[in-house]
Amino acid sequence: MQHSVSKDRFERMRKTGSIHYSMEIKKNLAEIVDKFPDNPKSMQYFYDRYEHFLSGDDSSFKGKKVVASMCIHVPLELIYAVGAVPVRICAGAYAMDQIGTEFLPAKTCPLVKSTLGAIYLDILPGNIDPVLIVNPATCDQKKKMGEMGEELSKPLYLLEVPPTKDTEEARRYWHRVIKRFVKKLESVTGNKITRRSLKRAIKMVAKAQAEYRRFNQLRKTAPVIYGKDAILVTNAYFFDDIERWTQKVSELNDELEKRIEQKIYVGKPHSPRILLTGSPSIFPNMKLPVLIEELGGLVVYEEFCSTSRMIWDTVAVDEWFLYDMIPAVADRYLKPSTCPNFTPNNDRKRKIAKGIEDFSVDGVIYQTFSGCQLYDMESRMVGNFVESMGISTLFIESDYNPDDFGQLTTRLEAFLDSLKNKK
Ligand code: SF4
Repeated sequence: MQHSVSKDRFERMRKTGSIHYSMEIKKNLAEIVDKFPDNPKSMQYFYDRYEHFLSGDDSSFKGKKVVASMCIHVPLELIYAVGAVPVRICAGAYAMDQIGTEFLPAKTCPLVKSTLGAIYLDILPGNIDPVLIVNPATCDQKKKMGEMGEELSKPLYLLEVPPTKDTEEARRYWHRVIKRFVKKLESVTGNKITRRSLKRAIKMVAKAQAEYRRFNQLRKTAPVIYGKDAILVTNAYFFDDIERWTQKVSELNDELEKRIEQKIYVGKPHSPRILLTGSPSIFPNMKLPVLIEELGGLVVYEEFCSTSRMIWDTVAVDEWFLYDMIPAVADRYLKPSTCPNFTPNNDRKRKIAKGIEDFSVDGVIYQTFSGCQLYDMESRMVGNFVESMGISTLFIESDYNPDDFGQLTTRLEAFLDSLKNKK
């Protein structure tokens, strides 16, 4: 672990890091696209976005103030309302994970290492140069990473998420945190949040969320899309122009509706239906969903902070006044969250149970990144609960290193075979 490097060394790291990152994007995208013959045509937009945007070849954010975020607890509506654009920079690249190892202990979660590596090298989606990088105090590793802002000369801002969400004290504390965040946003952008701008932002995000729920309704109805594609669609929400994303998901949904009418399905008729949960799959680290589907399973639902947990719920406003809208936004980013940072976290069990029932799930696969204590500790609670519903669970510990493909394949094959035999 090293804290400062010479200018020459930094330039070398940046050059090699960019090359490895681009190669990783191309290779992993090819696995996602080329190995599956029946991808919907509307997915091409999303495949292209990854190739061009993540490798920096994009001008979407030119001239705009960008607020980067590292978690689902950062209220997007407030960022839009202040005239800025949010980009979530949680990273899934092994190339960046290796850079993060320069600063963090080797056993740190790969998501944290990868994100810090990308911040350090300034290799962020679309080459953005954020006016603020919001780091919510959820897991300890992210919290401590926020401390490194000064050392790295980056504008990191700690958003204090309470450790519980069920008490009135926690709610009041969070409301104060959000009020302070509004002031911070206004000072870094030089713009004020107004009643009109916030109302518009809430409606714009709600439209995207409605299209996402329609997407999942279609996934429930019939096996029309692979989970690896569904994860790519939601990952694109991290960095895409939200109105364009909504339009493209709507086009995809129209195509999926036609596929249902024509009975054009993906996978095999008796593919085991899988719910994925735990540490989140973020492109380019898609090895688990891709492997599951290559081996004949079908990921029908994901309970991840990079997918459903991020988009599903909408801000519930009683009155369209600032004094009502800001607390409503704050509540939306606390109450529905099933982040393992919260104790107790019984809502997570309820959400997984609903996912199992609504999506007719045959088995649950629980991913824990090496170094992630929170998801590891909750795996027991979730596993016992899922087994009590008569559903089998497979626990996988993994990281961003591609070297464990062989071992993962053996375990996944055995699990999927056992589910097929049960069907
Ligand atoms: S996977 Fe675990 S350690 Fe990593 S960022 Fe998420 S909660 Fe934190």
